[in-house]
Formats: sequence, structure tokens, C-alpha cells
Amino acid sequence: MAFEPLPSVPDHTALEREILAWWDEQGIFDELREQNRGGERFSFIDGPITANNPMGVHHAWGRTLKDVFVRYKAVRGFDQRYQNGFDCQGLWVEVEVEKSLGLNSKREIEEYGLAEFAARCKERVAEYAEVITEQSRRLGMWMDWDNDYHTFSDTNIEYIWRFLKAVHERGWLYKGHRSTPWCPRCGTSISQHELFAGEYKELEHPSLFVRFPLKGREGESLVVWTTTPWTLPANVAAAVRPDAEYGLRDGGWMLAREKEDYEHVARGEDLVGLEYEGPFDELPAQEGVVHRVIAWDDVSLEEGSGIVHIAPGAGTEDFELSRVHGLKVLVAIDESGRMTEEYGPFAGRTTEEVEQPVIDALRERGLLVEAGRIVHRYPTCWRCGTPLLFRVVDDWFIACDEIRQPMLDANATVEWTPAFYSKRMDDWLRNMGDWNISRKRYFGLPLPFYPCTCGRLNVIGSRAELDGRATGGLDQLQELHRPWIDEVPIACEACGEEVRRVTEVGDAWLDAGIIPFSTLGWQNPERIEGGYATGAAEGLSGADLPDHAHWEQWFPADWISEMREQIRLWFYSISFMSVTLEGRSPYRKVLTYEKLLDEHGREMHRSWGNAILADEALDRMGADVMRWMFCEQNPGQNIKFGYGPAQEVRRRLLTLWNSVSFLVTYARIEGYKPRWADLEGGPDAELQPLDRWLLARTQRLVAEMEAAYERYWTPALTGSFESFVDDLSNWYIRRSRRRFYSLDEAAFRTLWYALVQGVRAIGPVMPFLAEHLWQVLVAGPVADAPRSVFLAGWPERSEALADEALVAEVSVVRRVVELGRQARATSGLKLRQPLRRLVVEGAAPAEAHADEIRGELRVKEVEFGEVEASELRVKPNLPVLGPKLGKELGAVRAALEAGEFEELPGGGFRAAGHELSAGEVLVERAGKEGWAVAGGEGVTVALQTTLDPELELEGRVLDLIHELNSMRKEAGLDLTDRIVVTLPESLSDLLAHANWIKEEVLAVEIRTDGGSAEPEIAKA
Ligand SMILES: [Zn+2]
Ligand SMILES: [Zn+2]
Repeated sequence: MAFEPLPSVPDHTALEREILAWWDEQGIFDELREQNRGGERFSFIDGPITANNPMGVHHAWGRTLKDVFVRYKAVRGFDQRYQNGFDCQGLWVEVEVEKSLGLNSKREIEEYGLAEFAARCKERVAEYAEVITEQSRRLGMWMDWDNDYHTFSDTNIEYIWRFLKAVHERGWLYKGHRSTPWCPRCGTSISQHELFAGEYKELEHPSLFVRFPLKGREGESLVVWTTTPWTLPANVAAAVRPDAEYGLRDGGWMLAREKEDYEHVARGEDLVGLEYEGPFDELPAQEGVVHRVIAWDDVSLEEGSGIVHIAPGAGTEDFELSRVHGLKVLVAIDESGRMTEEYGPFAGRTTEEVEQPVIDALRERGLLVEAGRIVHRYPTCWRCGTPLLFRVVDDWFIACDEIRQPMLDANATVEWTPAFYSKRMDDWLRNMGDWNISRKRYFGLPLPFYPCTCGRLNVIGSRAELDGRATGGLDQLQELHRPWIDEVPIACEACGEEVRRVTEVGDAWLDAGIIPFSTLGWQNPERIEGGYATGAAEGLSGADLPDHAHWEQWFPADWISEMREQIRLWFYSISFMSVTLEGRSPYRKVLTYEKLLDEHGREMHRSWGNAILADEALDRMGADVMRWMFCEQNPGQNIKFGYGPAQEVRRRLLTLWNSVSFLVTYARIEGYKPRWADLEGGPDAELQPLDRWLLARTQRLVAEMEAAYERYWTPALTGSFESFVDDLSNWYIRRSRRRFYSLDEAAFRTLWYALVQGVRAIGPVMPFLAEHLWQVLVAGPVADAPRSVFLAGWPERSEALADEALVAEVSVVRRVVELGRQARATSGLKLRQPLRRLVVEGAAPAEAHADEIRGELRVKEVEFGEVEASELRVKPNLPVLGPKLGKELGAVRAALEAGEFEELPGGGFRAAGHELSAGEVLVERAGKEGWAVAGGEGVTVALQTTLDPELELEGRVLDLIHELNSMRKEAGLDLTDRIVVTLPESLSDLLAHANWIKEEVLAVEIRTDGGSAEPEIAKA
């Protein structure tokens, strides 16, 4: 077996499709799972993706992170469950189905028929579950795709019923009558966490100042401010701040401003209790309402008139005030956001449609003081984007006061990455209100609440309990969804009367929150085959319902990962349910990440034309490139995603490809045969120092990668790997190149070892390229090697090959060389021109490597000592210092510019009261005449730039070698072809170095008798 040649650049997309097919055909994933079965367990629980639309590129970020760590644990031999989840019911599915059916209100859904509507919802879920599965496979995600969980399964629903029953038994469940955010299009209330999930949009609304005439005080009015004209017909009170000063002018009372003249000034408390005429007292809704002034400490003195119009049926704070002051609650709008019957001329119109009629009526009645417009941030529905209203309704709540502290305690046991999200979770828990779990909708978890007129609230906890207590309708109950469940009444446990279920369905976060219990078989006595894929999920997957022993093995999750929004959603709901049922967190570690933006940092929107579809990205970038970009990103910051950055990644990944290609090319020419045993103890050849360094450098890579995987920190994975490949390519190969022109075993075996171990370590990040390179480097040419990189295990670090001191030394050497190149660049001399001397300061560990430095920088002598510089200039390293210093940057920059700084040991500086480390500044030292100087991070080099005849001649020889080698390439010669060179007479002085030239260009002979003005070559 021999190495197969590589094309000059990889075709990522084609290569990935080939690998996918090969994995399938070879059953690699199944074999890996088999290999790990019974091993130590790693429990990952997948947060469900909504099976509602194709996957977006933002989902690809999360799914990449999941796969990277699940794969890593698999390579390390951990036994895992690999269960993918789909979120299948609730508002998001309903809204998309409504759109596709052209339905636009709850009435239209009911006309369409709930059974039919449920069928369409299920079809949509089945369709998109398949689409997402295909996209996820394409991304390289390894999951047990025939074993997905679907949250609309009857089993999942039953587990939630059980939870709700437990909540009821603790006395936490209650029916609340309160003002909640309401989406008039979806016709349902929106919970606190959904409110945060929605967007605040900049919207324009009317801004009105309106007079409310005071009773018994002729000619005096209150002036109130409002941006919601539709709430004025539901006004019952006006609130003032008792300790604020109000002034009367032109008959209107408003907050008194300083240095203004008023006819009268009074404190707010003096106005409290006054009665006034409401603006629409003639409406039937207003019958019997006595309008009066109430005291409220939270009246804003910042905007408006300092007098707040109170409509308890249309605002949260207004509603709370109605309880304190015993105010009448007038509910002005129905489910669809239209004014109700009792609002006379406004009845049947939307809140927007009544704006102008209300303004006109106020003007007619002489009550309008001022009408303008205002643009402000306003909450919208997270599903459909409709501006939210406030409406007083009955909703079901879970009280959270008793669970707040236990949830905070549970969160204290969780390790968050990045760590600051732990505090975000705490903040949310400290501020969370009672959980509004009911939605007035159709295709969702049916709340198992059966309130009886006798006062008893019956809560059903399981299907068996329902069967036992049902008084009819069981024969038509095909699954636990509306409309079927609504046809099953039960007998009240207190009075025996027949009672019916409330019509509400549950918050979708209940569906996803129960997963750590429902999918793992909590309290289930015996495993049931296919026992999870029940009800609506039947036929969609083959998921079993495991038994309780299984739950004990896999709960809590060792690790979960979702985006930051899930702090208020999934992380919150699984934690809420788990702390309720088991008193502890359902996860030990969590990785979370921010938002995905376009490459210019703007949000992606289809309507802006900057959205990227996942399919298109996978086709154009390739999955590995996408995965690399996602891994490279600090998850605590938004990612800028796009084809520009992808191109950049693709270009950088070429260094690895070219390094493999280099090895393969020369292995084919020289007949090198790799052996498997080399991967175990390292090559037992006669190693040169550089070989020992690369072997040690590889151990360092493995250690760094292992540490990064173990702390779930992907930027360190890509960072370590990239710096390793740079060392391998730009130091090892560069310095050893000629050893590959003949069969130098030690060099081939060392490079092969390093490349293979590197490919194994990076496999979880870019599985396709790693698998492909494994085929090229190992599976192809080595007999009896594992056929997949993922069956080969982790490249364990070898203590015998490790040498931290050597790795550190070479890293300093590379630094010196880099500075040497910088110094040369400032001198304007060609890279090829040999120079006389380099002086190096602050790089003692590099002393043993003076030869390598000489070779790399083409200098005759390297001296370690003090660099004599005539001038020192220090500038701020802006990308580093900017974020650190903020506003202080200006002062520091000015001090550095003025030369007002002090040098610190270790290469740092002190300026304007700040200590700047070596990495935070850019140091320029101007050399003495005839020297070029460069420095940074504590190392300084000085390069002698004056030339003598010997150096000049050598420079010309090197130019010639370069030219001849270019000619070889242009002539299409093979790397091994020998040539004859003919030089013009004018270059005959270069023949002093004839042997050197011959060696470098593979010439058998150099002639000077051609008569041409230019050098010529011919194949020998
Ligand atoms: Zn909505
Ligand atoms: Zn009863």
C-alpha cells in the first residue's frame, strides 16, 4: 500500500459528501458506539430544536459545539446516549401552520377544525424533523437519528401532567386574574420569559396630553399624558406622586417645573381624593365609575405631565393599583385586541383603529391639550412580531417564591462556560415572577386541570388516572391533544359531579423542560420498547421509555449547551422542573454562547437580504470550515458569520493541507512506508534535535487540546492547533526540507507522527478533513490500522517524548527569527542577501540554537548580548490596550509619544500611571548607523546591514539559484530531474560557488560557453 497523491487544494464540499457516504456505508458511528458500550458514561442531554422550519446558520453554531464535545468524549471511549430532540408543539408550530394555511385568527382556526389543524401541525413537524436531520448530518453531527425524542409524545405529556400534579400538591398552582402582555394576533397571553424572548421595536405612537375636568373646582382640570389612546375609554383614576409639587396654569394642573409661574402650587397629596369627569363617561362600560385622584409613589417625574391616567384593565401597574385602591377593572379589548361591546362607537375596532376616533372625540369635547407623535421602544410578540397589548385575563400560574432559593442553590452547583453566565442565571432567578403556564391556544400540551363548581380543582397526573376517572369519551381519544382530550370529562374527586378540562394548553417550555425526566424513564418501573414514541410521536421515532435505573445512570447531565437566551427558557425550565421533582440541578456543566450576526456585525434578516441559509452555507463553505469558524469564536461574544470570514478560514487551513501534501509527495518519491507502532512510542530512528523538538511539540499540542476539550473552550482548540501547524510547517518542514529529498527515515517518521497525532486531536472540530487525512496518511498506507480516525482513540500524550524546556526554547528562537525578519524588512535588503552579524538581547533560551538562527536569517554570526540602540519608541498595541484602558488610552498614548515612560523588567513599561506588559506595547528601537533593530515582548535584535564583497557575491549566487529553480518549475521538470546549466560570461565570477549552485538546483554541469545574455537550463 502506498500514499495516494493529494490535489493542490481540497474541495471541501466534495470531500465531505464522500466521507458522509463512507461513514454510512462502513457503519463507523455504530462501530464507535459498540466499541464504547459499557465504558464510563458521559451524559449529554440535547435541548430540543423546533421542528418547524429548516435549520438556520445560528442553529449550526450550537449544533457544532454539541458535536465537538460529544465526539471528543466518544473518541475518549465514553458511553453516550446520542439522543437528539425535536420541539413539536406550541405557539411556534401553530403560527407557521396558520401562515401556510392562510389562516389569520383563532376564529379561522376553529372554522378550519381543530382535528384537521392538529393533523397539519403534526405533518409540519414530521416534514421539518426530516429536513433538520438531513442538515445536521451534513454538518457532521453524530446522533442516534432513529431514536429522537418528540416533545408532543403522549409520554412526554404525561410526565408534564405528573409534574403539574406535584406542583398542585405543594400548593403552588393557582389561577391568576391579572394584567398580562397579550398578543392580539395569536390571541394569547405571553409569559415573562417570552416577553424577554421577543423584540423591543422602535415604534411610533400618538402622544396625547388630555384634560380631566375636576368636579367641584370650576375651570380646573388635571392634565394627563398617554401614548395609548385606546385605554382612555377604560380610565378609572388618575395618579399623582404625593411628595411632588404640582402647579396650576391656564386651568390645568401639571407637575410644577422650576422657575415657572403658576396661579397655584400644591403638593400631590393635596390633590389626592379629588373627583373628576372621565373623558368617556357616557359609554356603557363607564357606568357607575367614580373617577378620582389616587396617590402613587412610582409616578414618573421624567416624562409626561406627572399625572398618570390609570386603566386597570390595560396595564400591569394599573391593575396592581386597582387592588390597592379598590378600583373598578374595565377590560376594553377581546382576545383579538378589538374593543368590546360596552365601548359604543369604538366597539369592534382594533386598538390602532380607535386611535384617531378617540383623538377626534377628545378634540370635539375640548379635552385635548396637545396631540403629537412619539417614537419609543415597544415590546412585540416573539412568534409573530405583533406589538403587544396588556389585557386582564385569567391564566394559570406556578408560584415561584418557594422554589426561588432552591433553584439558586442548584445553580451554585453548576459550572458555567463562560463563567459570567452563572450570574446571569442568578439574576434571572432572583427576578423571575410566577410562571404563567397557560396559553389560550390549540396544538399544545393540554393542561390537565378540571375545576369543579364545588370549588375543587382536579388535576390529573397520568393517562391511567384519566382512564380511571373519565366519565366518557375515551374511545375517541386518539392522542392527548385537543380536540380529542376536550371530549373526555371526569368525575370530581370531591363531589362526584362531571367536570370538564379547562381549554388552555401549556407553555412550550414545559414540553422541553421535562426532558431530563421523560426521556430517561424517571420512576418508570420497566423499560418499554418504543414507549417514548407515543401519541402524536408514534411512527416518527423508535424511542424507548427506559426504566428508573437508567434514569439514575444518566441523570443529571454531565454537560449541556444552548444559546444564551435559554437562560430564561430551557435552562430555566429544566432547572425549575428538576428542582421541583428531585431537588437538584439537572446538569453539571453548561456551555452557552451569544448571537450570530452577519460578517459586518448586523443582525441577519431575510428582508435585509443578508440572511444566509444553512444549506447554502454548507454547500459553499463546507461543514468543516463552518465548524472551524464557530469553534474559533469566543462564545461569550457575538459571531460575525459570512463568506468573507469563511474564505479566510479556508485559506488558513491550507497550511495543514500543504504540510500533508509535502509529506505525501516525498514519501511517494522516496518510498517511505509508515508504521503503526510509531504512533505508540514515537519513531525509534536516529533522531536529530529538530525531530525531538517536533515530537515534544506534538505532546504539547495534545496536552493543550486535551485541556481545552476538558474545559469546553473551543477557541483554545483552534488556537492551539493553528499554532502547532504553523510550527510544523514554518519551522520543522522549512528547516528540514532537504532531508526529504532523500529517504531520511527519522525526518519522514517524525513528520508523519506529528501530522497523524495532530489530525487525531483536531478530529472532533473538523471531522471530515480529519477523516480524509487519516485515510491519506494512515488507513491507506498502513496495514491493520483502524479504518477511521474516530475508531483510533485519543492520541495519548507520551511523557517520554515530552520536553517542555525544548518547546519553550524553540518558541523563543522563532521569536528571534521573526524579529530578525522584521529588522531586515526595515532595512530594505532582500531576504536572500546574506548578512554579517545579528545581536540578540533578552532571549537566553535561544542560545543553544544559534545555528538555526544563522541559517534562517542568513547571517554569518549570531551574538547574544546587549543591543546598542540610539533611540527607543513605544506605541500602544491598540487592539489589546484599547479595550483594557478605554478612555484612559488617550493619556497613555500621549505619554508614550512624549517619551514619558519607564522601562520595566520583562519588557513592560510604565506610562501615565499604568503598567503596560510587553504584549500591550509595540516597541521600535532605531539602531546605530549600519544596523537595523526590532524588538517586542522583551526580546530585541540588531541586524548588521552593511555589505562587503564576500556577502555581495553570495547574495548574487542566491539570486541565481532562485532564478534557476523558477526556470525548472516553468519548464515543468520533475523534482528529481537533473539539469545542465548554461551561464553568460558576465556571471562567471559566480562559479567560485559552483558546487553550491549545483546542489541547490540539481545540476550535473554548469557551462559558460553558450553566448546568451541570460542563464539557460536543459534537462540532463
Ligand atoms: Zn403573536
Ligand atoms: Zn366537585
